[in-house]
Amino acid sequence: MLDIKYDLKNIEEKRKTVKGRLFQESANIKSESFGKISEEDLYLLFELYDEIFLCRWFRQKFRGKIKFKLSRQLTRSAGNTRTRKNISAIKPEEVEFEVKISLNHLMNFNKAERIKYVGGIEAASVLDSLMLVFEHEICHVIEFLVKHKSSCSKKPFMELINNIFGHTEHTHKLVGAGEANISEYGLKPGDSVKFTYGSSTMEGFIQKMNRKATVMCPDKHGNYIDKSGRRYVKFYVHPESFIKEG
Ligand SMILES: [Zn+2]
Repeated sequence: MLDIKYDLKNIEEKRKTVKGRLFQESANIKSESFGKISEEDLYLLFELYDEIFLCRWFRQKFRGKIKFKLSRQLTRSAGNTRTRKNISAIKPEEVEFEVKISLNHLMNFNKAERIKYVGGIEAASVLDSLMLVFEHEICHVIEFLVKHKSSCSKKPFMELINNIFGHTEHTHKLVGAGEANISEYGLKPGDSVKFTYGSSTMEGFIQKMNRKATVMCPDKHGNYIDKSGRRYVKFYVHPESFIKEG
């Protein structure tokens, strides 16, 4: 799709160059495990990637706009790229993209102690994870521009991202809100919990963990009925609201 292909060693070196420049030029990102980031950093990252990996392909060919955003809404995907459907019918200078990077995945990065991967590549730090997700989204933008559609589960995308960034997968194994809460609060599905609701103390069990826990509380008027005929009411409870005992 682009006439660019690097070997893994070269890719590693280029990522190091991007990091070095980022540490110099970003107001927030000064180390691998930064605690602050702004949308300006995403614009800076884009410039650096265009220069260091993409031979200024965007500067030379791209006439449209890309809006970069840090998103708190993205929970399952770590990034997202959108453009209008009729991109082939739009004048080049009117083409617009919105690239979102999930803030949740960055904030949760260290909340589980296991190896994390993005695109089949190990992310050893929160900066790695940001960069690998960014690489994935940039390839979506390139594919949209060249092919007028983009799908990361298909072969052309995988070829593109493998050639330039060495990714071997289109998925990530970063830390979602559920897993972060499990390790932060020690709570998992099946656990019995108590919490305050109005003036009463509720008891139930955790059915699912996301940013909030889904808790099922026995109640003879409840709308949820299990296999043995017990009825429950469902609550969404922030993990901090559980009453700790003992
Ligand atoms: Zn994708």
